Amino acid sequence: MSLIVQKYGGTSVGTVDRIKAVAKKVAAGHRAGDKIVVAVSAMSGETNRLIGLASEIQEQPNLREMDVLVSTGEQVTIALLCMALQDAGVEARSYTGGQVRILTDNAHGKARIQEIDGHRIHDDLDAGRVVVVAGFQGADEAGNITTLGRGGSDTTAVALAAALNADECQIYTDVDGVYTTDPRVVAEARRLDKITFEEMLEMASQGSKILQIRSVEFAGKYNVPLRVMSSFEEGPGTLISLEDDDQMEKPVVSGIAFNRDEAKLTIRGIPDQPGVAYKVLGAVSAANIEIDVIVQNVAKDNSATITFTVHRNDLKRASDLLEQIASDLGAIEVDTDDRIVKVSIVGVGMRSHAGVAATMFESLAAEGINIQLITTSEIKITVVIEERYLELAVRALHSAFGLEQSEA
Ligand code: ADP
Ligand code: ASP
Ligand code: MG
Repeated sequence: MSLIVQKYGGTSVGTVDRIKAVAKKVAAGHRAGDKIVVAVSAMSGETNRLIGLASEIQEQPNLREMDVLVSTGEQVTIALLCMALQDAGVEARSYTGGQVRILTDNAHGKARIQEIDGHRIHDDLDAGRVVVVAGFQGADEAGNITTLGRGGSDTTAVALAAALNADECQIYTDVDGVYTTDPRVVAEARRLDKITFEEMLEMASQGSKILQIRSVEFAGKYNVPLRVMSSFEEGPGTLISLEDDDQMEKPVVSGIAFNRDEAKLTIRGIPDQPGVAYKVLGAVSAANIEIDVIVQNVAKDNSATITFTVHRNDLKRASDLLEQIASDLGAIEVDTDDRIVKVSIVGVGMRSHAGVAATMFESLAAEGINIQLITTSEIKITVVIEERYLELAVRALHSAFGLEQSEA
């Protein structure tokens, strides 16, 4: 008998018929003898609809009330799924995040899970019930409803699996696994049988939205075997696990991620002296704006230029702030650009191979794509390019690294 946590995303529970199909799948596992805990998302489009309602009232609604609002989406699906399970003859109980004591901090809209009390869930499982938990939400110490950030149901599922010591956490979605890149952009993308936590973490943090970053962090930290699979068809999916040295040699590049959510800011003509980077970037961070890629250049005349990227939603705030800093520092100008994208190649094989960057730059050059910024880590190379070249760049890189071919 295994204890399995299954997570079903928005499309997988997008209609009543889909919810009935999920109930059938869960019931089959239950009848086969597994203990099953299910985490569900809101029906697809529902979270966006709720956010839309709020924005009709206020441009920046109170974050506590926002969480009360958007957490309702998941409350609908837990109840409907339990009804469908009961209709299929399976005993099932639904719980909101707060009810099963998914304790979080109080950072509304991006709360972090601190603790889960698994007692209630274990009692239900021992009594032969399927337990259905609302994804994406928890409650803080004072009992306020919190949410975990967009895509947060993945994190609920992994955190439940860690807390319950589950044998596997299965993420059911609308693709049959993790691909070499988003199959909606490159039709030739190939499903990976396996990927390491480390690679998956880079893919997720570089923009691949198949799994929420925090869910991968959690899975790596608690070594939860994680599998991404389709809720629409049978198949092995993709297993995300620790690096396996016995494996055949890994490809140098495992996947390509991209991110359309960032914007670039440049401040030119600032003095090249100690403390200037702190004055510029420290002030942006202090305003709670997350900074991603940073590049600094110094010209012959000893004036410096700093370029960095932020989330597009933060561009206006960041640029207002930068204008102010520019006037304090006597800078020449501030420039902003929200028509940029970040494209990254990711692979643990990069550690032991030279020439990967050269291949990347050569293939972008051959397409006439200008690279604006470059940043690297041990297992990733990221470039910032003009947005209109995104698909061309991803396709060119996918083919340059032979990702569409079958595994060697
Ligand atoms: P869910 O609603 O089930 O959480 P998501 O929309 O969050 O589903 O994630 C699934 C989507 O992720 C797929 O439809 C696919 O377009 C996208 N995606 C992005 N990168 C990848 C990748 N490397 N492999 C597979 N899917 C990817
Ligand atoms: N419903 C939430 C969202 O759309 C959480 C999730 O689906 O994982 O972001
Ligand atoms: Mg998702």
